[in-house]
Amino acid sequence: MVKIFIDPGHGGNDPGATAYGLNEKDINLNIALKLDRLLTQSYKEVSTRLARTSDTTVTLDERTNMANAWGADYYLSIHINAGGGVGFESYIWNGSFSNKRKTESLRTNIHEEIVENVGWRDRGKKEANFHVLRESSMPAVLTENGFIDNRNEANEMRESNWIEHIAEAHASGIAKAFNLVRKAETEDPQETNTFYRVVTGSFKLENNARQRRYVLRDQGYNSFIVEFTHDGTTYHRVVTGSFQNKSNAEVRQKELERIGFESFLATFTL
Ligand SMILES: [Zn+2]
Repeated sequence: MVKIFIDPGHGGNDPGATAYGLNEKDINLNIALKLDRLLTQSYKEVSTRLARTSDTTVTLDERTNMANAWGADYYLSIHINAGGGVGFESYIWNGSFSNKRKTESLRTNIHEEIVENVGWRDRGKKEANFHVLRESSMPAVLTENGFIDNRNEANEMRESNWIEHIAEAHASGIAKAFNLVRKAETEDPQETNTFYRVVTGSFKLENNARQRRYVLRDQGYNSFIVEFTHDGTTYHRVVTGSFQNKSNAEVRQKELERIGFESFLATFTL
């Protein structure tokens, strides 16, 4: 099982780069969520974990601690560039470390696959002393996916097609780097139809469930209400996220508990 840790840069209080009404943190998250789904749905023997699944503040230490504690095989940090330029570049740590050669070769696979698939101007394979690259104990790469302050690239970033395209390029780069094998279309229908719902409150009165939804919405979380019957009693569950990947549901659960909402996971099969 190859463990890929996906880090959508910035979030919450930290918008990252901003231009033309866009926040880098939102684009990073959209690419990361899409990439996560592509990897787990399309490839065998891969498991993923996200540093955040919503617009929440996560420190750099928390991010690398999460990846290190999980024992990830790869750390992928997703960013959007700014500062006047165009195209794609990637980074690995500029220090000297034991698995640098391996890190370089994995990065080359991913970098070249992305440049080729997206048809991007190649700004080069670079090195820098970034926290997430230095403090992660596994090979790590950071991608800078276009410039938010370039009008043409910013316009593309608004399109869901663009997000999908970038995520697909990352997925095929990772697949190439780790020799991941594609799942057959019909394989494991059970697995792909099970969802982990994050339940943030279960109420007999529907009105109480609605109140909880409003409070969550004020905190930036969209939710929906589902009915659940146990021993003849109907409950209204407030679902704040539904994930096919259990570990992502757990990340969401922790985010909610950190801001004071006791939550639990419930499986749901289509
Ligand atoms: Zn960034």
